Amino acid sequence: MTRIYGHFIHNASPQPSSWIERISPAHGTVVAKFAEGQDSDVDAAVRAARAAFDTGPWPHMDAERRASVLERVAALVADNLERLARIEVEEVGKPIRFARHDMQTVVALFKYAAGLAMQLHGLAYSTIGAKRTGIVLREPVGVVGLIIPWNFPAETLAKKLPFALAAGCTCVVKPSELTSGTALELASLAAQADMPPGVINVVTGYGDVVGSALSGHPGVDMLSFTGSTRVGRHVIARAGEHIARSAVELGGKGATIVFRDADVEAAVDGALASVFFNQGECCVAGSRLLVQRDIADRFVEKLVGKANALRVGDPFAETTDLGAMIHRQQLDRVLGHVDAARREGAKQLCGEVMLSCESLFMKPVIFDHVQPSMGIFSEEIFGPVLSVTRFDSPQEALALANQTDYALANSVWTSDLDTALEFTKRLRSGIVWINTALDGALQLPFGGNRSSGFGRELGEAGIEEFTTLKSVLIHTGKRQPLFAP
Ligand code: NAP
Ligand code: MG
Repeated sequence: MTRIYGHFIHNASPQPSSWIERISPAHGTVVAKFAEGQDSDVDAAVRAARAAFDTGPWPHMDAERRASVLERVAALVADNLERLARIEVEEVGKPIRFARHDMQTVVALFKYAAGLAMQLHGLAYSTIGAKRTGIVLREPVGVVGLIIPWNFPAETLAKKLPFALAAGCTCVVKPSELTSGTALELASLAAQADMPPGVINVVTGYGDVVGSALSGHPGVDMLSFTGSTRVGRHVIARAGEHIARSAVELGGKGATIVFRDADVEAAVDGALASVFFNQGECCVAGSRLLVQRDIADRFVEKLVGKANALRVGDPFAETTDLGAMIHRQQLDRVLGHVDAARREGAKQLCGEVMLSCESLFMKPVIFDHVQPSMGIFSEEIFGPVLSVTRFDSPQEALALANQTDYALANSVWTSDLDTALEFTKRLRSGIVWINTALDGALQLPFGGNRSSGFGRELGEAGIEEFTTLKSVLIHTGKRQPLFAP
């Protein structure tokens, strides 16, 4: 049955004049219809969020009460977990067991942010003079525009939204037009959890209309964007026009660096998951394998064996490892990279396209003997494509790993503590994994540097991101006049 959604503005669902149909990438059927938003919808949503921030109860509410609303949202998401996971499967095409895991993460993120709401605090100085007391208040930044991509729709939203809310901000969300279902469902669950009207608003539609209008709206105090580097650059510029703050989580070109002293089985599994999880549509993917030359042949052989055994197909099947690609253009883009790599002389060891009906499936691709000069080594592919490059010395591995404009996440596989620590310090990424990959904890900040963006999600940094500081100086007694006669 097709799910039909209007926007979500001030806890109401205004109906649009035109709709966007979402065809399930795995099944070729229409699964949802979303409102096609216009500038006027963005304006209405920003006004609602602005009023909720400027005159509503949310920013000044006792943090314990804000936390209890977020806890109730977490409980409602948990109650609806299977339904929400299935929406994510229909719209994204990702395997159901991973969609369930994403939704469990959403629950955990709302609970964690609720806890942080209670921890948020400023500072006081009693050391600045006998009659002077300094107070630093940490306040919510205001109305935040959240722009979300399609690969982890609910999870990416939950890395931002509950943290902004916990800080006391109000929000306007712009999900991807391909995968807006869970954002709208979350907003209506929040309303059931007694979230005041106007605190969460969702406007659906295309990025160049809705996303652009939101980024450029003078009523927005901060933009928090996740998506491509190309669009991120545009959002930063639009936000800059009205001096709004921005935080951007962009692309990546992560390396999985395997030394000869690594636990080979663990490293093979790590390298495999790192690049093929979520069909490779993952910003933190380890899409470059750098492996020490003397173990490379054995390592690659094991890896190809396991890649060929991955199950690609119906994302509703419990055993599926890779589901469908998000849409035809993305599949074509990925295949363009594969063709280019072949032309440049990389050696394809496995992988092919499987086209069935309207569906968009692709088997994992591995290229060996990839040179750093080839496009596949430096361009983000965002599909199930791994490039393998051999190295001799640790210095060479480090130089190769850092030879990219991106700086999001890398993993290092070694049993040598010196190597592990040296790489931890010298890799330029915002995240380093040692003998693990695609790993994380709510407490650990998430984000990148350079072309991978700036700003951090999760951890204490994840709530502080949505706050601003106010310095207060209190003078007791009479102050010496500045212009004494
Ligand atoms: P995208 O094209 O950059 O889109 C991201 C969001 O921005 C979507 O909601 C999109 O809307 C919107 N948008 C498009 N044009 C816009 C504009 N002119 N102004 C404002 N917003 C606009 O990225 P994507 O194709 O959805 O996602 C893939 C990319 O995201 C990859 O590069 C990946 O690495 C990156 N990503 C990064 C992270 C991270 O945490 N670092 C996480 C996930 C993805 P529509 O597409 O609906 O039109
Ligand atoms: Mg897009």
